[in-house]
Amino acid sequence: MRYIFGPVPSRRLGISLGVDLVPYKTCTFNCIYCQLERTTNQTLKRKEYIKAKDILKELKKELASWQTGKLAKQKFNYITLSGSGEPTLNAKIGEIISGIKKMTSIPVAVLTNGSLLYRRAVRDSLKKADLVIPSLDAATAKTFKKINRPIKTLKVEKIIKGLVDFKKEYQGKIWLEVMLIKRVNDKKEEIEKLKKAIAEIKPDRVQLNTVARPPCEKFARALSNRGLERIKNLLGPPTEVIIDFERRALPEKMKDLKKGIITMLKRRPATVKDLADGLGVHRNEVLKYLALLEKEKEIRLLSYKGKRYYQVK
Ligand code: SF4
Repeated sequence: MRYIFGPVPSRRLGISLGVDLVPYKTCTFNCIYCQLERTTNQTLKRKEYIKAKDILKELKKELASWQTGKLAKQKFNYITLSGSGEPTLNAKIGEIISGIKKMTSIPVAVLTNGSLLYRRAVRDSLKKADLVIPSLDAATAKTFKKINRPIKTLKVEKIIKGLVDFKKEYQGKIWLEVMLIKRVNDKKEEIEKLKKAIAEIKPDRVQLNTVARPPCEKFARALSNRGLERIKNLLGPPTEVIIDFERRALPEKMKDLKKGIITMLKRRPATVKDLADGLGVHRNEVLKYLALLEKEKEIRLLSYKGKRYYQVK
């Protein structure tokens, strides 16, 4: 599978099948907390980075294998468009969503940084999705630049306006995600500005998140549970702190993947790419399990010659 990955346990979406719409790592942002490392192709250019027909063909095959295989009872909660960067940069995202809707009744979710929603064409292309999860980490220009490191021409006011317009036009659900980084965007004044923006956007839910997997910049540090609760109270309803997926039971196929990672790491330390290549799975899938194993204190992260390796403890 080149563009489809999973099933992956997700904090918000239960069990989902991921779909990659852009090559690694194509994005409008270069967030300090990105788990995919620094953006190598930072762009605003929308194009068919990966052909819609190739993605749909691969998805069809994957869904068919789940229906006939012994894991048929395993139900996906969502098909999630996300992957190796910003999915709305794929100019055919609307066509891809329509194609998935024709193929299956599994709901479609889109994870986006929301940076292109100021464009009508992008808002229109997401119309058929069941759920859109945009992020908004700051409402001031200074903090927006610090945390998301966007392409220069992207302004946060324009992005907020795009989110407001999208909420007015879109019939599905919008869950706004706020990624909180210690001493970067967690100050009271910053949260108050964010609260104003959220009041304008009126999302169905606001979900607070913090760094759970190794970020691309070491200084992007997680907030404590107490810190998250404090901000939840400052923002008020409908804000929630999203639950760790680790608390859910993992289906059999996923337990096998966890074992596979441990077996490889017992032989020698490995990078995310080594593990993904070795196990024949997508690197996003590997990242989720590495986070889980780190939390369970079974593995640790180390740097060597600028590369990040995982090792069993
Ligand atoms: S928007 Fe998402 S993919 Fe892009 S840099 Fe930020 S965290 Fe990474």
